[in-house]
Amino acid sequence: MLRAAITRNITHFSRILVYRFSTAAIPAPNHQPDVNYNKIFINNEWHDAVTNKTFPTINPATGEVICHVAEGDKADVDKAVKAAKDAFRLGSPWRRMDASHRGMLLHRLADCIERDSAYLAELETLDNGKPYAVSYTVDLPMVVKVLRYYAGWADKWEGKTIPIDGDYFCYTRHEPIGVCGQIIPWNFPLLMQAWKLGPALATGNTVVMKVAEQTPLTALYVASLIKEVGFPPGVVNIIPGMGPSAGAAIASHMDVDKIAFTGSTEVGHLIQQASGGSNLKKVTLELGGKSPNIVLSDANMEQAVEQSHSAIFFNMGQCCCAGSRTYVQESIYDEFVERSVEKAKKRVVGDPFNLKTEHGPQVDNEQFQKILGYISSGKQEGAKLMCGGGVAADRGYFIQPTIFGDVQDGMKIAREEIFGPVMQIMKFKSMEEVIERANDTMYGLAAAVFTTDINKAQYVSNSLRAGTVWINCYNVFGVQAPFGGFKASGTGRELGQYGLENYTEVKTVMIKIPQKNS
Ligand code: NAP
Ligand code: MG
Repeated sequence: MLRAAITRNITHFSRILVYRFSTAAIPAPNHQPDVNYNKIFINNEWHDAVTNKTFPTINPATGEVICHVAEGDKADVDKAVKAAKDAFRLGSPWRRMDASHRGMLLHRLADCIERDSAYLAELETLDNGKPYAVSYTVDLPMVVKVLRYYAGWADKWEGKTIPIDGDYFCYTRHEPIGVCGQIIPWNFPLLMQAWKLGPALATGNTVVMKVAEQTPLTALYVASLIKEVGFPPGVVNIIPGMGPSAGAAIASHMDVDKIAFTGSTEVGHLIQQASGGSNLKKVTLELGGKSPNIVLSDANMEQAVEQSHSAIFFNMGQCCCAGSRTYVQESIYDEFVERSVEKAKKRVVGDPFNLKTEHGPQVDNEQFQKILGYISSGKQEGAKLMCGGGVAADRGYFIQPTIFGDVQDGMKIAREEIFGPVMQIMKFKSMEEVIERANDTMYGLAAAVFTTDINKAQYVSNSLRAGTVWINCYNVFGVQAPFGGFKASGTGRELGQYGLENYTEVKTVMIKIPQKNS
């Protein structure tokens, strides 16, 4: 029963606090899970890198090396793309497979992931640093849900019959695009893998995926499950490796038909350029953000403080949609800041394997240093440090939940994506003013508004240029609802029915209809 309750609620990231009181339902974690897979997965087999190179993957809670992983490069990408192209050939087992059977394989994959949820959550926490209670009750159930959702779509993604002029029967087919390159980040390693594999496989494509160098382990374990459940060889190929070598090789490959990328806006530019400079492969991008979170004076204060807190601090601030510009109307500004500071100070930071921990380390030293740099810049530019601002442990990459008040729009911390646990609070006077300020950014991934007035809620949400707008909530995800960015936050949508469009070509077929006397 408890498990069912958790599963029903997991789509709401911000409910993780509730789970802290349900820890009895979470199996006690093994702090040192075995690492069974650390090689490149091509054609359902494990390979060393062609160069024989490896790289270390680190436990961010300690800074210690977990293990070394094969470092794929251009030559490995060539092998993987060839395998994916062969698996996509006309007449191959994958191309001849019934769509319903593809759906069944995805269901089986979801079943195996659910079976191994505790182990996968341990491995995710070890490699990424996110609290185990969150890996187990938020990430893993969402992974299973995404795969099941797209499993259901496999034999339902229908074309149309179209009444064109003349004696013709016209219909459309939704056909797979072909070999899909997929490059994923480290902030939700398993979840981003599922978001990408689900629609690609449901629609009959083959995949060459590069996983982030910081967090390769869980994706490789999932590769073993892909083999276990019976996907034909070459349908899914997974390459751990570096972005500028393995990632760039996928992006510019002449035999990759489509690329889906999640990560920084900076690399998003390179992916788009690589497509333009090679075969014009189709591109979808899910990039950064600097999402405004607007609290109007009539908001329910408790709800606004609670949600604004998890909007920025969930996953240690490492969320593309983090509510990282908190705009608060002047009449409630002081109370909001005071209550937010109180809440941030109570956030439980520490060992991610401790079930009471809400806040683990940042993913690596690079991110850790970058965030500390932003905190210094905030202080230098005159923002008011209200709490935090420092390192939270003597080893690993822990940063205290940090709040800046009196932030001005022009400050670096108000303009750039920090990707860390640093909240910027800004004051505003009127709704018109805040809408203009909220939209004054190159990004447009997400936004939120807190108010008890339905008219204001709709007016503000319709005026914001963002792919998702939350009203009186934050970080609510449904596998059925699309997610993606306006402006420089991306191209295309993931999740939901919209997510299928990026993985299919539409073919129009016209048949001459014979007439009675002709
Ligand atoms: P990133 O470099 O964009 O990494 C995302 C993925 O792209 C990784 O798999 C990465 O490989 C790969 N990549 C890097 N350079 C590439 C290239 N030239 N061609 C093809 N693929 C390439 O992001 P990051 O360096 O890890 O983090 C930097 C910033 O990006 C963060 O501070 C944050 O602002 C943003 N970010 C956003 C998201 C998001 O969800 N939108 C996720 C992560 C990071 P490597 O493993 O070698 O890096
Ligand atoms: Mg990188």
